[in-house]
Formats: sequence, C-alpha cells, structure tokens
Amino acid sequence: MSQETHNFQAETKRLLDLMIHSLYSNKDIFLRELISNASDALDKRRFAALTDSALGEENPHIRLEVDSAIRKLSVRDNGIGMTKEDLVNNLGTIARSGTKEFLDQLSKADTSRPELIGQFGVGFYASFLVANEVTVVSRKAGTTAAHKWVSTGDGTYTIDTVEDQPVGTTVTLTLKPAHEEEGLSDYTDTWTLRQVVQKYSDFVAYPILTQSKKPSSGEGDDKVIEFEDKTLNSGKAIWMRVEKDVPDEEYNQFYRHITHDWTDPAGRVLTKIEGTIEARGLLFIPAKAPRDLFRPDVARPGVQLYIKRIFILDECTELLPNYLRFIKGVVDAEDLPLNVSREVLQSNSQVRVIKRQLVKKVVEFLAKKLTDDRTAYEGLWKEFGAVLKEGLIRSPERNEKIYDLVLGTSLSKTGTLVSLQDYVGAMKPDQQVIYYLTSPSLDLALNSPHLEAFKDKGIDVLIFTDPVDEMWLQDSDGFAEKRFVAVDGSDVKLPETEGKAKTDPEESKAAFSDLVAAMRASLQDEVKDVRISERLTASAACLISDKGDMTPQMERLMRLSGQSLPKTKRVLELNPTHPAVLRLQTRGKAESQSQDFKDLATLLYGQALLAEGGQLENPAAFAKLVTELMARA
Ligand code: ADP
Ligand code: MG
Repeated sequence: MSQETHNFQAETKRLLDLMIHSLYSNKDIFLRELISNASDALDKRRFAALTDSALGEENPHIRLEVDSAIRKLSVRDNGIGMTKEDLVNNLGTIARSGTKEFLDQLSKADTSRPELIGQFGVGFYASFLVANEVTVVSRKAGTTAAHKWVSTGDGTYTIDTVEDQPVGTTVTLTLKPAHEEEGLSDYTDTWTLRQVVQKYSDFVAYPILTQSKKPSSGEGDDKVIEFEDKTLNSGKAIWMRVEKDVPDEEYNQFYRHITHDWTDPAGRVLTKIEGTIEARGLLFIPAKAPRDLFRPDVARPGVQLYIKRIFILDECTELLPNYLRFIKGVVDAEDLPLNVSREVLQSNSQVRVIKRQLVKKVVEFLAKKLTDDRTAYEGLWKEFGAVLKEGLIRSPERNEKIYDLVLGTSLSKTGTLVSLQDYVGAMKPDQQVIYYLTSPSLDLALNSPHLEAFKDKGIDVLIFTDPVDEMWLQDSDGFAEKRFVAVDGSDVKLPETEGKAKTDPEESKAAFSDLVAAMRASLQDEVKDVRISERLTASAACLISDKGDMTPQMERLMRLSGQSLPKTKRVLELNPTHPAVLRLQTRGKAESQSQDFKDLATLLYGQALLAEGGQLENPAAFAKLVTELMARA
C-alpha cells in the first residue's frame, strides 16, 4: 500500500496546536496517558479472549524502550491493537466527551493562565507535549495486517502498511530536547521514567517493564554487557484486594505511605460501589487530628483520586464534604475520563454518587464505633468532633445523621461525655426539650450561674465548648423531636419539682417591681432589661440573651470572622432569694437614686458578667469600685 496522507479533524488540530506550543505545565503526564491507553488495550484483549480464546495473550505487559542516542522513547503493549480504521478514528478525531469539554473550557478560559490548562490531561495527544514526531505501529488481535501512523502534529498524519508486527501497539516518540525550565525532563533516562511511573502508574495491574544493564560479570576483555528486565511499578492496588486477604499491617503501611503520618490509623473503611457507577474507596480515619485542621491556608485535606489504577489528583476535596476533611485515603473510579478537571468533578453526577456512598460509609463506621467501642470513639470525638459538627450547620452539605454521633459533656454525670440519644433516654418524664450551654471552657461552664436551678432540680444539661457549637445548635430543628434550648436564653421554663418549697414567680415579680424598675434605670446603658429569675439558686444575678438576640458566643464568632457589630445588650436576671438582692430591695425606693445604690447595681452586673467568663468593659473602674466598697464596709 502506498502512503496515505490524512488531515486531522479541525478540533483535533486545535488541540494539537495547543500541545505543541504548550502552556501545559506538567509535561510528565504524557507517560501516564500512554500507559493508561496500553493498560486499557490489555484489558480489552483479555476481555475479547473470554469469548475467543485464540485472541488471548499469556504474558500481558507494557514495555518502555529508550534509545538515548536518537532521543526515542517507545511505549509498547501486547494489547488489543488497532486496525487502520481504528487509527484514523481514534487518533485522527476527537470523539471523546472529556476532550470536547476540555476544548470548551479552554475557549472560555484565559489561555495565558497555565494553571488552568495544567488541570487537564488530554489523552493520546499529550504525546506532543514532549515529542516532535509520534509514530504508532499497531496490529489488531485476530488480524495479520499492521499499520503505521505518523504525525508531527502539523495538521496531517500519514498511514502506511508495515510487515511482520506482533499483536499490539507501539507508540514511539521522537523526544524534544530536555529543557529543565520548561518542565521537560530527559525521558530517555531510566531513572526519570521510574519516577514518573511510580508517581502516576504504580498501581497499573500489568507489569511496566524496562531493560537495564545487568551488573557485569567477567573481567577485562571478557566483560559482557547483559540486559535484564526491570519492573517499574508495584502493580498492587491494595484497594482492589479482598480485605480479609490483606494483613492490617499492609493497610497501615499504605496509610503511612500516603499520609506521612507516623501513627497507625484509628480505623479504615473499604467500599466498593457497583452498578451503573463503579468505584472503590479505601479510606482511613487517622488517630490524631493534624494541627492544620482549622487552618485552611495550610491544611492539605482530601483523598487521592485514581481512575482505573492511574493516579489523577492528590488532595481531591471534591469527593468528601468539608466536615470529613480529616479522612485520608484513595478513591479509584472506573468510568471517569483521565482528563477530568476539578471543575468537572464538582458538577459530575458520578462523583456525587461516589461522594454520597463514601459519606454513608464513614458515618456508619463512626456510628458503629460509638456502640462497639465507646472509649475509642470518645478518643476520636475529641480529635474530630469539632469538625464533624460542621456537618450539622445549615448548608447543602448538611447531614442529619451526624446528630447520632454528637457527644456533649453531661452536667448530671459530672463531666462525662454522653450522646444525644443517651441524654434524651435519661430525660425526666415531663422534660420536653434538650437543655444545653455553650461556653469557651468546661470549667467555666460547670460553674456557670445559669446551671444552678438545673443542678438543684437534677435536670441534665449538655455542655458544648467548641466554637462551632453555637452555629449548629442555633440552626437545629432539634433531635428526636425535642428542641434544643440554651440555658442562658430567655425561654427556659423549668419543669416543676415536687416536694420542694418554691417561691411563686408571679408573687416575687410583684414584690420586686420597685427594685427591678430602679435597677433598670440605673443600668440602662449596660443591659436591655432587668428581670426576676427562676433559674438562680446560689448566685445573686446572671445575664441571659433575650429571645431572638444574638448570643455573646455568636457575637464573638462573628467578630472573629472580621465582622464589626454593635454590642448586643443582655438581660440581667436577679435571684429574689439572695441576701444581696434582698438587701438592695430593703433600701427601698428612697435610696434608689443614691450613688451607693448605683454602685451596688454596677457591681451586681459586673460580677454576673465575670461569672459567665465575659469581659468587663472597664476592669480598672470595676476593681476600684470593689475596693472602695470594701473600705466602706
Ligand atoms: P481515551 O483513552 O480517553 O479514549 P486517548 O486519546 O488516550 O483517549 O486515546 C484515544 C483512543 O485511541 C482510545 O480510546 C483507544 O481506542 C485508542 N488507543 C490509544 N492508544 C491505544 C493502544 N495502545 N492500544 C489500542 N488502542 C489505543
Ligand atoms: Mg487514554
């Protein structure tokens, strides 16, 4: 057959132009693409042999060959091979949606920004990143004719017939000169090839072979140079193996390898997604939180994405929600295109299915840990609870299943961690809601005046001390049909306790109306209102947030996030049985205008603020007031 010259399809030409004048920063990926094609071809041949055993191959492999003198690199496989029509259709046109998408993105994107383009891989044409000329020789399994496809990427390619070829495909690249600054390594160097193979193609199931010099035997003139095959890839994708056949230590080794963590993981989750979408996940729950978990600027969250054993992306955050950013591991998808970009991942429906499944599995793992090994679970909760609870904040990623995983510190069980289920299960029959207190620290919370009546009546309160708590609790619709009620909020209605002498709230309100009015007037710059309390037993006063008002914890969070806010005034509640309050009351109306009364009111407010861990606006003035009163006493 005489040589035929063909034109590339118009779109293909655009892509080729781009490759040749490449803005593409990561040139190494050409090898990933060629090896992936070879591996696909070997898969296809194996599949074909199932129905026609004559098509089989006993020793499937991929071979890299170099000739550094003429700067050639070949990638040879004994896979399915291509007919002449296959060569024209597969290498002369772009039929693939992934590549189309790439071109569409590219025409929208600013091509002067290489990092945009760097996110894509572009299949076979990636060869032109590193080569001036590409030759493909191929013979399809079950046929005798072989063909040679050659192009310099200038808009045309030629096709010839060639004789005496084995079944399979050889792609030979005439390499551009190595150029460090342009990211062009010397791909005739075996060491470089090994590095690239180990990074991207280590888990390809077929051996990737190369020849290297054997340590020489003999002496002087007898010295013979011999070559031997070296396998560049380990080939064992641990996530493809049956879990019971793999010792724990191997999983742990793999975990340490991908995370550079010194300690073994606390657990692992293996998952196999089957059906219209196929993928495997091998996820690890680390034992300790990394220090950067709350530092988005330095954190390196996410899992590794593989597509059919080919490494695609590190730190792939598209596969897990943000609240599981501490999870490490590998996801290997069967049907995504290798040139998938982060943008595509974000909107891809397969990715959504995979993500949903991974979330489900991780949450199930944690829930099981909670029931099976409480101590271990509490350890994990201390490390990752604050992150997990982000999953309860109202957002598209919100996951109500996290409620089952939440632990809070119990007031009644003096400081032990209890689940929401534990709490609700132990509620008093007439208790309708879940009481909680958020606080910057446990010590502060346990001594909070807001808890006095709860302690007194033996009603449990859940204490939460992470900054995120205020956010999910305020967003919550409740758990097990019980609302969450803050003990320092205004809608606390404590259930009555039998047998205890109690003051009638209405009566004490009437009895203290003058005092309340005088205090209101005296503290009008500091507080929104003054009220008689039902929640205090030991302390003289406390501050609460009025219904609908921003809580001080929330205010602090908003300030931390850089928002400037006016200060929300709070409500001062007085304990009608406390001697200090009673003394103020007996001073009567007459004295309510005196400086002495004003000072005592200020003192009462200041100590209520201090008791809940708040900050005085003017600590020096407060200190002076205290010492003056001490002197007068
Ligand atoms: P993709 O692999 O995503 O389909 P590529 O650009 O990498 O896209 O390859 C285009 C097509 O060329 C492949 O789908 C396959 O049909 C064919 N092809 C490429 N390399 C080989 C090979 N080594 N053996 C057989 N067919 C190949
Ligand atoms: Mg490919």
